[in-house]
Amino acid sequence: MEVERQIDHLERIPGGAIITTTVDKVLEWGRESSLWYFAFGLACCAIEVLMAAGAARFDLDRFGMMFRATPRQSDLMIVAGTVTKKMAPRVKLLYEQMAEPRYVIATGSCACAGGPFADSYAVLKGVDKIIPVDVYVPGCPPRPEALMFAVQQLKEKMREEVKEKHAKK
Ligand code: SF4
Repeated sequence: MEVERQIDHLERIPGGAIITTTVDKVLEWGRESSLWYFAFGLACCAIEVLMAAGAARFDLDRFGMMFRATPRQSDLMIVAGTVTKKMAPRVKLLYEQMAEPRYVIATGSCACAGGPFADSYAVLKGVDKIIPVDVYVPGCPPRPEALMFAVQQLKEKMREEVKEKHAKK
């Protein structure tokens, strides 16, 4: 069970359970369970993957994920589409305006490595040239399910980071 993975101690009692944990762990569990994402739709992947994943059929909201139109309220930036060299400084600036800890998913071949436009003088060969990327979703375009799988991979990574952080204490 999701909750049981992150708590210190769970004791079952008749009619329920008692949990002992720390405020830190509750906050980390809350963050992982409600990733608010700053959608950075830059080309076709924005429609084919990002909007499709957020709409009713795939419904990212059911994982506690809500779209925000401002970097100040976002934990995750989903870069979906071609990053042109003209747009790159804005992408970097908006990433820097997100509060830490912040995460990035590069969605589609363009965001991962330039895609079909990799040889163009005007296109960045991957958004990781300007900001750190946590999970890559290859494909032109990838399926919305691939983005949803990437979100689960990111959550796994977040859990590992939390474990490492607490192991050092
Ligand atoms: S990876 Fe393909 S579908 Fe996605 S933005 Fe690039 S060209 Fe468009």
